[in-house]
Amino acid sequence: MSKQFVVGNWKLHGSVAQINSVLGELAKSALDGNIGICVPFPYLSLAGKILEDTAPQTGAQDVSEHRSGAYTGEVSADMLADLGCKFVIIAHSERRQHFGETTEKAAKKIQSCLDAGLFPIYCVGDNTEQRENGQAEETVIAQLQAVKGLPPARFAIAYEPAWAIGSGVTATDEQISAMHALIKAELSSDTIVLYGGSVKAANASQILSIPGVDGVLVGGAALSAQEFAAICKAVRW
Ligand code: PEP
Repeated sequence: MSKQFVVGNWKLHGSVAQINSVLGELAKSALDGNIGICVPFPYLSLAGKILEDTAPQTGAQDVSEHRSGAYTGEVSADMLADLGCKFVIIAHSERRQHFGETTEKAAKKIQSCLDAGLFPIYCVGDNTEQRENGQAEETVIAQLQAVKGLPPARFAIAYEPAWAIGSGVTATDEQISAMHALIKAELSSDTIVLYGGSVKAANASQILSIPGVDGVLVGGAALSAQEFAAICKAVRW
């Protein structure tokens, strides 16, 4: 198998000083492999410069479904590609929850990324209520409609149960391996499936050793160069 992915999501955090310091330290960490750092739009250019000639590549946390036109405030996939981005997180549960992101809209954004040569990371996952009501699987299966039929090498799925994001509670090994197996069965055994939800340096090796886990999407711990570098060093080939 090729090297697992580690992708950091900075969410609505950062400043020029913080990007310089955290990414500057990461640039000196001699990291190797499939690594992404998704920072807020205004910092993508600076992040790209700092990470030039290093393994980590930059990514965005959202993208417009439109390629160009009268869509004030939007950022297109072509613009991200122009800045040298590789990754785009699509339909993170915070976007589904706070900004009404739908699976239908996500499908358009994913296609936009593919057209621009970007690598979308499409987030799926159950919330507490869905998990408690035994609807976790059907929720994820419905969300997977956005990527049905797409070539598996061109995108990744991030399985992120909403109740594990930023909560300090990770899904159990059994919950993770069962959901990753379901996703691969629904799409293709070659589909790259990342896990996200309270991944830290302290639990990364354990999570990355679960069968069917092809990498991790990391929120809070991505803001620390030391934590993030340790997670990158925990990957399996
Ligand atoms: C995320 O933002 O996608 C995430 C998984 O956050 P955290 O690692 O902080 O739970």
